[in-house]
Amino acid sequence: MANQATRIAVIGGGMGGLTAAIALTRIAGVQVTVFEQASKLGEVGAGVTVAPNAARVLDKLGVYEKIKALGAVPDGHGVYLDSMGNMVTDAAWEDSAKQYQNVGMYRPDLINALAGEVDPETIRLGHRLKSVEALESGVRVEFDNGVHEDFDAVVGADGIHSVVRKAVDQHLEPVYSGYIVYRGVIDASRLPEGWPMISQVWMGNNRHFMCYPLQQRNLFNFVAGIPSDRPLNGPWSGPAETSELAAEFAGDGWDPKLQHFIEQIDKTFWWGLFDHEPLTNWSRGAITLLGDAAHTMLPHQGQGVNQAIEDSMALATFLAEADDVSDIPEAFRRYTAVRMQRTAILQNGSRRSGAMFDAQYEFADLKKRDADIRVGRDFRRSAVFDYDAEKVAEKALNRFRRISVV
Ligand SMILES: Cc1cc2nc3c(=O)[nH]c(=O)nc-3n(C[C@H](O)[C@H](O)[C@H](O)COP(=O)(O)OP(=O)(O)OC[C@H]3O[C@@H](n4cnc5c(N)ncnc54)[C@H](O)[C@@H]3O)c2cc1C
Repeated sequence: MANQATRIAVIGGGMGGLTAAIALTRIAGVQVTVFEQASKLGEVGAGVTVAPNAARVLDKLGVYEKIKALGAVPDGHGVYLDSMGNMVTDAAWEDSAKQYQNVGMYRPDLINALAGEVDPETIRLGHRLKSVEALESGVRVEFDNGVHEDFDAVVGADGIHSVVRKAVDQHLEPVYSGYIVYRGVIDASRLPEGWPMISQVWMGNNRHFMCYPLQQRNLFNFVAGIPSDRPLNGPWSGPAETSELAAEFAGDGWDPKLQHFIEQIDKTFWWGLFDHEPLTNWSRGAITLLGDAAHTMLPHQGQGVNQAIEDSMALATFLAEADDVSDIPEAFRRYTAVRMQRTAILQNGSRRSGAMFDAQYEFADLKKRDADIRVGRDFRRSAVFDYDAEKVAEKALNRFRRISVV
């Protein structure tokens, strides 16, 4: 941005907010302050995949090598298996250029690596946002602790229950998918010798189990999706008994190798899966949204964080073009136009993937489900992994420039 004194508040110090802080500082050259409600930055002790489309962004931001070194690059493509462990198809695990692969990350490692790239003086912990108010020029943010401050613009990276979202006039009800997941990690040394260092997904009737390596292959992540009608009007997650999880995959109909994996689990917790319909707008004046605040999606394509990382690059690219703070609303409108389309496809695609893994709806025919999964593999590589968020934003900028000349 031409005006380097521009001050932007990022609300939320999750993976989305921290990546946004890095991108806005390094690409748009603005001054960023991150406000996080918690008293320290952190993440749940589970895994997340950094996919090639996000790896490309992190590389441009100069943080990819550091992150990759903390994670686990699998030995090759992942596999989709039926409940007895027979191969259905292989899974896309790298982009078409074979430059970037899926990297399994232990979430606390990823958040610490991102936080290490942000000036600690600019992160304010213990600040829970109460309200956002558009001023004649700029935006006022007010926190539960009584602090309030004015900025040139605000980015809401405050997750599914976003407070900032209300300021862009979007009111939504999270939608329960009918599924919970059991999640956690196990020490890789507990697995039999020769256990494949790849991602594996066992798909049975109405449930699935996924595992992949993390943290330089010292840990294995697991996620098991199970239908549940437990009332979720209270908490959405909590500790669970490992015996509950084992019972879901017991009996002759499941692969003994999977059952052995589950026997090694000594700690797990459950998590209700929610998403929401795509929003109709993300920005209002100098206020915009990013990450789950804008597009919570089901985890079945492993794209929630990856989309927040793409958002960060697109936002910074549009903002870098703004000459003055008065140009910020237009930059936010352009960002919204480009990103809403992309993320709506992935929100819908993640629902569809979940339905396929769990053989619901039209996939109740398992043979058809398996055929659809094979088709989805190539689409995933080209449409999801090959996407270059910076190039797409630059192309859009050129189009917008031509329109303003006409
Ligand atoms: C089982 C499961 C598996 C998943 N696997 C993957 C995967 O493999 N790959 C992937 O890309 N995604 C995955 N996801 C999705 C991913 O976890 C989310 O999309 C991601 O965490 C969103 O990041 P965020 O920064 O936008 O929001 P969040 O992680 O929710 O962070 C929001 C931050 O804002 C703070 N905050 C909230 N309200 C306020 C407030 N009022 N004031 C100040 N601070 C506030 C919060 O404390 C938090 O730190 C998975 C999700 C689940 C449930």
